[in-house]
Amino acid sequence: MQKLANYIDGKLTPAASGGWLEDFEPATGKAYARIPDSHKTDMDNAVAAAQRAFPAWSATSAAKRGEWLHKLAALVERDLEKLARAESVDTGKPIALARSLDIPRAVANLRYFAAAASQFASESHAMESGAINYTLRSPLGVVGCISPWNLPLYLLTWKLAPALAAGNCVVAKPSELTPMTAYLLSELCMEAGFPAGVLNVVQGLGPKAGVLLVEHPDVKAISFTGGTKTGADIAGRAAPKFKKLSLELGGKNPTLVFSDCDFERTVSESMRAAFSNQGEICLCGSRILIERGLYARFRDEFVARAKMLSPGDPLEEITAQGAVISEAHLQKVLGYIELAKKEGGKILCGGRRARLDGRCSGGWFMEPAVIENLPYDCRTNQEEIFGPVVTLIPFDTEDEAVAWANGTPYGLAASLWSRDVSRCHRLAAQLEAGLIWVNCWMLRDLRVPMGGMKQSGTGREGGWEAMRFFTEARNVCIKY
Ligand code: NDP
Repeated sequence: MQKLANYIDGKLTPAASGGWLEDFEPATGKAYARIPDSHKTDMDNAVAAAQRAFPAWSATSAAKRGEWLHKLAALVERDLEKLARAESVDTGKPIALARSLDIPRAVANLRYFAAAASQFASESHAMESGAINYTLRSPLGVVGCISPWNLPLYLLTWKLAPALAAGNCVVAKPSELTPMTAYLLSELCMEAGFPAGVLNVVQGLGPKAGVLLVEHPDVKAISFTGGTKTGADIAGRAAPKFKKLSLELGGKNPTLVFSDCDFERTVSESMRAAFSNQGEICLCGSRILIERGLYARFRDEFVARAKMLSPGDPLEEITAQGAVISEAHLQKVLGYIELAKKEGGKILCGGRRARLDGRCSGGWFMEPAVIENLPYDCRTNQEEIFGPVVTLIPFDTEDEAVAWANGTPYGLAASLWSRDVSRCHRLAAQLEAGLIWVNCWMLRDLRVPMGGMKQSGTGREGGWEAMRFFTEARNVCIKY
């Protein structure tokens, strides 16, 4: 069994305690690697290494920092196939998805912020009273990046690239469920000759290593992506220490379908929005609100396509639906199917554990589920399921659609399908979501603000938002 290591002070090291955790392959249900069960000594060592590296790294020119990130991006791109396979094995996602989305996006994140390092500029405000303000922006110091299991390398690089570009040193804590590509990235940092301590990766459990990172007195900011409950815990620990916090949390995103939509595109993109990555993307559209006149036609077509989406071995090229992340998560998702039935929902297809033959016979697979006949305010339609489960809800008026779309504690993303341009603009301004897609889904421009409202988080990532988050503003006012 492969043994992974932490990456601390430029070196690969096991946990100081000698403890290990098992890393499972969701498609087989078997442990295939071991990761360090990191604790206080490891976290203290990582933060100390980052602190030692900070003076030189923050004094390195922005252009040079960009060059380092470009160097890393080139290595990730060179190893795209290896990393895609590793991500597929570690998460259960189809290899075709890892190859087309996860790893290319990690490369794009590194390249985008490599360029941003030298493009970032600060503001100046002239006053009529004969004074001028300018804002100095300096890196914070050591920052913590905590990322989830659904898009491991994609979201890890989305955080560490702007942090490093802005001149900070990073301690990253990937999900203990998906440590592999963070480990492989550590190896690539060593190959690139990254200065020791600039980036450190501490593997281990969230409630142990993650909490230590959040509470560490020398860590100035935490950039976190994960569940809302964990976000609340982190906020509770970080707030009394006045750390900067960026929280990208869960979602229960609506897809709004109007009768005048482009039917074919709407069905195929709603399918993608519902079931991509087994529904394990925070931006997935898990509640589809459909104008009543189109409801029956949409439902029948959608269900017919969902029935064809049967899970397969993630490592096979044709697989479009892989395994979910863990047995515990599979049971949680199946529990929501039972809840939906109790709440009066009609299961139109799927919703059962899927059993595969051969190498994947012990894997954590589920048939994609489509459910109807549930009110917008029942638990199934309010709580984040984060699996291959979607509900269909007919609506009669635009006002009803908006009220139901907004009627959850979350506010991350929404997609809207209509050919009526006025309606699209009108609704876009009313939907309570940080990201609104009109006639598309998950079309991402790395410059735009990314994040949610309400219980989907605070702060925004992406573009200058990320560069501002990872810097401290110091205003200078000069009277002349
Ligand atoms: P978790 O909140 O369980 O975990 C996220 C990360 O935090 C993991 O690295 C985890 O480590 C760590 N962690 C867990 N507990 C603590 C703690 N008390 N203190 C510090 N760190 C901790 O989320 P999941 O990994 O289950 O990811 C799924 C969730 O992420 C979903 O709710 C999804 O919506 C959300 N998400 C949000 C996105 C957004 O941009 N808004 C994007 C992608 C996902 P470990 O795994 O080892 O426990």
